[in-house]
Amino acid sequence: MWIDTHCHLDAPEFAPDRDAVREQARTAGVGLCVLPAVQRRDWPLVQALALQQGDAYALGIHPLYVPQADVQDLQVLDDALSAARDDPRLVAVGEIGLDFFVPALCEPDMRERQWHFYTAQLRLARQHGLPVILHVRRSADLLLKGLRQAGVCGGIAHAFNGSAQQAQAFIDLGFALGFGGAMTFERATALRELARSLPLDALVLETDAPDIPPQWLYRTADARANGQQQGRNTPAELPRIAQVLAELRGIDLALLAEATSRNARRVLPKLERLA
Ligand SMILES: [Zn+2]
Repeated sequence: MWIDTHCHLDAPEFAPDRDAVREQARTAGVGLCVLPAVQRRDWPLVQALALQQGDAYALGIHPLYVPQADVQDLQVLDDALSAARDDPRLVAVGEIGLDFFVPALCEPDMRERQWHFYTAQLRLARQHGLPVILHVRRSADLLLKGLRQAGVCGGIAHAFNGSAQQAQAFIDLGFALGFGGAMTFERATALRELARSLPLDALVLETDAPDIPPQWLYRTADARANGQQQGRNTPAELPRIAQVLAELRGIDLALLAEATSRNARRVLPKLERLA
């Protein structure tokens, strides 16, 4: 059985056929999806979807949604985490982090605002005894600094694409690294080398659906201008993404399924009771 540790089933892209998308993934062998939320408005939906479909969820404010978030949302998050304390499906605080790729988020006041939301949510994670699901984009070192200060209990560095040293620093803090569609591109040589060489017990799999389409769904801007449609990334792509990782590492697909599912349960301990 596969676990998709990062899937935005609540995204509007899936509104027309969410149940069918989830069912298709189940048929493909994806037994469990972790649904991280990106903004306060979506928290009730990820909770409802997880319950309805037998999945897990996380609550948090994503760095790309920090500009429109309200500082009050942090208090609401604290309350929501308290209310869901006995909910076995709430497995983490996320998706939280820092994004220094998007130019508007790199302005000094926005860097500071991101840091405020990130560190406040780390404190909430620690208070509520939950791991975190991290968005890492040109921000690994500062994220690590925040983790060391807050003393968070592990989690997942999602869509990891940093150096081997940064990967090791996350591993040392009890994190697994999320690998997905980006690794399926042949030109992603550095990322593929990481996927091949990191210890197997540090890896978890994810689709980040509907974002980060794997190579077989991706269409270039030119192709799209010529009317070719980008394929929609869904959690059903996970086994094929896993196949790429198994080939990179030269290991058996069944062994990879077992290892990555075990890793997911280790870093998100509440998954144990669901899967
Ligand atoms: Zn995400």
